Amino acid sequence: MWLVLGRSVGRRKFDGRLVVIVVVVARIMRDPVVGVLRDKYAPDGFSLTTNAHRVIGSPIWRAILKATHRLAPSFHLKLGSGEVSFFFDRWLESGLLCDKVLWVATQDVYLRVRDVWYDGDWHFDSVHTLLPSLVRDDIRSSTIMLNDSVPDCYAWKGSINGIYSVKEGYAWLLDMTDSMNNHWGWIWKLKAPQKICFFIWLVCHQAIPTNSFLLRRCCVASDTCGRCRMHTETVFHCLRDCPKATSVWSLFGINGNQSFWHEDDVVKWIRKGIVDFNLYFLTTLWWIWRARCEESCANQLLSTHEVIHQSKLLNEDVTQCFGQDDKERGMSL
Ligand SMILES: [Zn+2]
Repeated sequence: MWLVLGRSVGRRKFDGRLVVIVVVVARIMRDPVVGVLRDKYAPDGFSLTTNAHRVIGSPIWRAILKATHRLAPSFHLKLGSGEVSFFFDRWLESGLLCDKVLWVATQDVYLRVRDVWYDGDWHFDSVHTLLPSLVRDDIRSSTIMLNDSVPDCYAWKGSINGIYSVKEGYAWLLDMTDSMNNHWGWIWKLKAPQKICFFIWLVCHQAIPTNSFLLRRCCVASDTCGRCRMHTETVFHCLRDCPKATSVWSLFGINGNQSFWHEDDVVKWIRKGIVDFNLYFLTTLWWIWRARCEESCANQLLSTHEVIHQSKLLNEDVTQCFGQDDKERGMSL
């Protein structure tokens, strides 16, 4: 399924990408129900760069936008008559030309590829925008052939004929999902109970229900830490920077470790913690979070010594159950 690009495409910076959406959803657009959604929510066209989470509309419409956004990188622009925008369409393999220049001259807003390429050569004197020499070299290195009788179109990268199919789109998305999951594979390889692995996964995704997390979902009235009542309860505050957590880490043995206190990437922080302190680091994290929940939800106070004591017990249990080669495994993370 290819889609013809018209003169009207590419007048704004991202308009060329709109067409990709049409390609992707062209099949379902035949469905009259989807046609109704399109007419209602996007009477003037819809953009691939639109954040589906911020789109007002039905769940189906938002799902369509989300899927097309995911599929967009798997399409590429095939030049035919060269009607597409010279600056605002992705006809060049290395990316949009508008991103490679300081600004686009007003006279070039509607400039087409065919306005610059004709008679078998590039005519940069037709361009009013300042093109750096590296950009010119990039353009010259791309071999194009224009054919007035063939329209420009987007084609599916995954097949020789450029035709998109639901089967190939699904397979492509699965590959992408697998590669993303592998990115988090180290968590599920931890020799620890699933509850701790899942907890670490939530922490890495900034998804534990801190007050900051809950406020964004309108579940609480304030994002202030309920324990110290001084700062916003973020993941780092709750697990490291809150005085209640700081006292635990001090007793744990971390005092002058500057990188521990100043790291602002939670994933790096946790992986470094595992390398340095093995599973004891994770069980301490687990108990700091548990103490927070006990205090916030059940009004049960756990002392610093109790948290460390429970963390040590849990670490011993986990080590006994899952084996003790954690130092080596941790170093390989
Ligand atoms: Zn606090």
